Parts: sequence; C-alpha cells; structure tokens
Amino acid sequence: MAKINILPAQVYNRIAAGEVIERPCSVVKELVENAIDAGATEIEIYVENGGTQLIRVVDNGSGIEREDLQSAFAPHATSKIKKAEDLENILTLGFRGEAVASIASVSKMTIISKCENAKCYSLTSDGGKLGLITETAGEKGTDVRVEALFFNAPVRLKFLKSEKGEEAEITNFVSRFILNRADIAFSYYVNGKKVLQSFGGGDEEAFVCVYGASALRQCFKIDTEKHGIRIRGYIGNQNFSKPNKSYQSLFLNGRYIVNATLSAAISNAYSSYLMKRQYPFYVLHIDMPGEAVDVNVHPNKADVRFANNQIIYGCVYSVISAILDGHTKALDYLVQDEPSEPLVEKTAPKEQKTKNEEGVLPQEEKKFGFATFTYEQALKELEKTSPAFAAHKKDGDVPFKEVSKGYIPISELDKLSTEKSGAEKLHEQFPDLFFKKASFGVESPKGKETKQEDVFAENKRFLEEIDKKKKQNRIDIRTCRYVGKLFNTYLLYEREDEVLVIDQHAAHERLVYNRLKEKMENRKIVKQPMLLPYTIELNAFESEFIRERYDEIRAMGFDIDEPEEKRFRVSAVPSDLQGLDLYVFFNDILGQVNSFRSIKIEELLKDKLALSACKAAVKGGMDLTRQEIDALFEMMDGDMGMKCPHGRPVVVKLSRVELEKMFKRIV
Ligand code: ADP
Ligand code: MG
Repeated sequence: MAKINILPAQVYNRIAAGEVIERPCSVVKELVENAIDAGATEIEIYVENGGTQLIRVVDNGSGIEREDLQSAFAPHATSKIKKAEDLENILTLGFRGEAVASIASVSKMTIISKCENAKCYSLTSDGGKLGLITETAGEKGTDVRVEALFFNAPVRLKFLKSEKGEEAEITNFVSRFILNRADIAFSYYVNGKKVLQSFGGGDEEAFVCVYGASALRQCFKIDTEKHGIRIRGYIGNQNFSKPNKSYQSLFLNGRYIVNATLSAAISNAYSSYLMKRQYPFYVLHIDMPGEAVDVNVHPNKADVRFANNQIIYGCVYSVISAILDGHTKALDYLVQDEPSEPLVEKTAPKEQKTKNEEGVLPQEEKKFGFATFTYEQALKELEKTSPAFAAHKKDGDVPFKEVSKGYIPISELDKLSTEKSGAEKLHEQFPDLFFKKASFGVESPKGKETKQEDVFAENKRFLEEIDKKKKQNRIDIRTCRYVGKLFNTYLLYEREDEVLVIDQHAAHERLVYNRLKEKMENRKIVKQPMLLPYTIELNAFESEFIRERYDEIRAMGFDIDEPEEKRFRVSAVPSDLQGLDLYVFFNDILGQVNSFRSIKIEELLKDKLALSACKAAVKGGMDLTRQEIDALFEMMDGDMGMKCPHGRPVVVKLSRVELEKMFKRIV
C-alpha cells in the first residue's frame, strides 16, 4: 500500500482554497467579514479588473498585534474561538481560521495592520510563502491587499466569468453587506470609481443607498417576534415584485444566508400575488437563539441548518402572509411610519388597489423599475434626508459610529456563552426549536461531520414534502360531480368530502392561454426597425446577463446593442410583436438571470398571451349551459392548475368539516 503522507501546509492550503475561495467575490466576502469581526465601523473596498488584479479591504477595526501577524496566515489560526464548545454559540462571522491562509496560497497578499497604541506592521505572502514583518506607516486598523488572485491556479482562472461578470457578483455581495450592517459605513470602488457608499446611519439609510427611496416607498417595514424568532426588515408590497432573485436578501443572526426553507416560506406567502417568474423583493433580518441554528455547515455555502424547519417555516410564512393578505394581526408585525424626521418622504400604500372587472390589476401598477439606482442618485436623496450623511459632508469625512454588535474580544467569549438565560427560557417553552444536545453535540465530531453532509439533502427533503402536498391539491375534474353554479360565475363540484368552487372565467382563461402559447412556439420571424430606439438601463449583474444572451435575443427578432456601458438599445422588434411592451418584456428576460436555461419567446410573452386569453375567455356572469360547461372542462383535459395565468385562483375548496362547523354540527 502506498505510504500515507501528511500534506505540506502549502499544498493543504491550496486544497482548502478550492473550497473557500471559489472566485473573487469569495475573497471580498472573507476580507469584509474579517473587518466586521474586528469591530470596524468604516470599511473601504477596492476592486480592480473584476478582482483578479486587486482586491483591497481597509478597515478601522481592532488591528492585528505584531506577534499575531504571522499566525493570521496559518491555517486554522483564529482569534475567534478557542474550544469546541464555542462552536455551539458562534458570535463572529469567521471562526474556521481558513480564509487568510487560503487566499494567501493563491495570490500575492499583504496585510498591513496597526493596533491602538502600537506601531504599524506589514507582512507579505507570495503564494503562501511569507516574507519578513516590516514596520510601516498606517492608521489604526487593517489594510489587506490581494493581488494577482489565482496567479498559481490557472485552472481556477479559466473558470472565472468575464471581468464584468465577476465585478457584478462582488457588487451584489457588497450591497448585501451594506444592508446587513447598516451601522457600518462602507465605500466601494471599482477600477477607481466609487460605486456604492453607505454612512452607517441605520437600516433605512442603508436600504436607500442600495435600492433608492422609490423602492422603500413600495415596501412594508416589519419588526416582530414570534416563538423567540425576531423578523425585521423590508418586504415588497403586493405590486412590487422583481424579475429575478438578486433582489432577495436574508440575514440570519447577522450573517447573509441562502436557505431553501426560508425562501420557500416567503415565496409561498407571496404566491397568490405574483405572476410566474416574478419574485418577491425582500431584505429580511432573522434573529434567533444560536442554539436553534447551525451555521457550521459548509465552508462557503451560505446555507444553515435549523433544529426545526417547520417552526421557522411557519413563523416566517404566517408573518408575511398576514401582512400581504391584510390580516388584522399584521398591525402587530408592521412598523408604522413615524411622522417625525422621516428619512425620505413616504407615501405608504394605504389603500388596496382596485382591480378591474377581470380581477386584474391595471397595467401600470404592475410595473417596477429596473435596478438603475446609482451612487449619484443615492447621494442626492441622502443629502436632503440623512443625518449621518449630513455629518459626513460637514466634516469632509465619514463619521465614526459606535458598533452595537460585531467584534467580541476573546476574553468576553466565555462570559457570553454562559449568558443563556433568555435562550434557556425559550428552551422550556419551545423545546422543538432547539437542537437536541445528544444528537448534535460537540462531543461527537464524527457524527457531526456526516450530519453536515446531510444538511442540504435535509432542506431539500423538507421542500419536496411541501411540493408533494401542493401536488395533492391538484384537481382532476373527471373525478368530481357537477352540482350547480352560483351567480352565473362559480361552478360547484363535489368530490369526496369537499366542495370545489371553480371560477369559470379563470378556468377558461387557463385553457385559451395554453393554446396561444403553443402557437407562439411555431412562429416566423420578420424584423421591423423602430423609429425611436428603446433604451434600458440595467445593473451590473443584469447587464452581463444580457450581453451573454445577445444571440438568443437577436434570434427572437430584436436588434440590441450597448452604446453606453449598462445602457442597452433596442432598435428593431419582430414585426408580429410591434405593440409589445418592451419594458415588461425585458424585465421578463431578466427573470432568467439566475438560471442557465435558454430563454423562450412563449414564456417571455406570458403576460401578453395571458391578456389575450383573458379577453377571449368566457366572463364571469355569463350564463353557460350545462353542455358548454362540460365542453369547457373536457377541453381542459381533466387536469386543472390551481391558478389562472394572472395568478388568481381557479379553484377554491370548502371542506365538509368547515361546513359542519358553520352549522355547529361539530365544534
Ligand atoms: P477567521 O476569520 O475564521 O478567524 P481568517 O483566516 O479569516 O479566520 O483570519 C485569521 C485571523 O486573522 C482572524 O481570526 C483574526 O484574528 C485575524 N484577522 C484577519 N483579518 C483581520 C482584520 N481585518 N482585522 C483584525 N484581525 C484580522
Ligand atoms: Mg475570516
């Protein structure tokens, strides 16, 4: 048998780098997290050439002592946890001690750092080989420069996106840091130009810096606690949706996460308000006891594992759906506008928008802005309204702020881990919310490892269950008995122990829509030049996507180019689609931003087809004969989706139990 070798540190680090440092944005993430853990109140981020030439993060945090400077580069060197028990209650963003070592092994990395009342020192690593510590000039805090990323990992370089693509990913990350830590002043520069800045002035200000005041006006502000889970932040109102998921941010205990259970809870709460391929807009912070969630799951995947998925799901779902459905409970969840000192003038969506006779919201209500909100616009809006910004202008510098949470000195860690009285109380009340110590203990690291691998499978299983339940809700009309109709609009069917109430307009609409879609798949393309070209401004992420999809978009019959960066021009449209609302159409294309699927015209024209279907379908109030009704459902092939193409329900169910309760036969 071959001899077992213990890998030299440099080789090991490069293997670890493969896991932790996938692309330039992973470097930005790790460096900014370190700055936050160091208690910084001001963080500057510089990126050049999509991060491959330079990524630099400068902070005003605690700094690194001279004697620790070398160990910062060593694998598994961390100042953040000391012993296995600390893993049970992680309060910092980093804890693995892997990032610096990994980044250093695949780049030329320099750390310049100065602690309070100490000198400033610099240490450089070249692909993991350390130089000598030298004294240098510098401010309190840490300045980390990562140059020539992946210079010794050519395969990794090959797998990177274009410079713009990587840059867009980084911009997304930085935006999320701004939203996550509204108490920290961030500045973000790309190739020398400032693209984002926040001033540490709180949630609302951070939101405006990233999305603009008009987005804020279209959101509900939430702050509530349920079963020991605090949910706060912003969710888009019923008419404010987005074409892709890049407008969704979830922060769990101060950490940006992507979690299937939570996103399913949110999107299911929105499901009756969103058209297909429209996604909810949200910036949500969820805080819960550290014991109820495991963040030590995977070195770079932002997923977490909950001790109890059901409680989390139910909690988030019920809060958001109560707000969207206008339930009275929602009053307890919402933060009411404070009339004094509003950050921006707000016109809260007070009244429910009225629907037209087809039950469809007027077109202009459904529109949403492209993400063209720029740094310059943010400045303009903040100039008027943000106190932190005003202070910044006066002093000519970003104001320093107290940090409310963040860096926890090692000496405090032990103290903190014993202060669990709140969590303990919760433990008694909701034992299910927590991990069972026996099955998830630090005592059995081996058992834990296998569990880590299961985490994604576990989340997936949970969602599959939800999906299965949804499928069980599908209705095969052939198994139902027609029993009559109400108001010439609602058809009544009986099936086992329930009554199905079917909206005849919605049902027919779904049918006509499916037919129109088929027709669209087999069209002929003739281009028609436009007198006035149509322009679209996009964010970095979306622009890159459009550039990559030029061929597909042109093949559909559009002429498109980019005369100015991130500003696209459409100068010809397919002649069969001359009246097309290009705004909505391109929003739909951008709906595919996160997928690798090819884009299909019949899918993109969903709105237009749905509208034609709506016009062609039988209306509510139209007296259909029994034959017509039977013919309608026969055409539908027995199987009916639960929603019309506009997203309204086709069928509503009333169970026998519900009826019997109404008549007090049962209680
Ligand atoms: P981790 O964050 O998991 O502890 P890293 O490899 O990211 O591991 O960092 C190693 C150590 O280097 C940290 O624990 C911290 O002590 C120190 N360090 C890194 N970056 C900074 C920074 N910006 N400010 C202060 N200390 C830092
Ligand atoms: Mg770290």
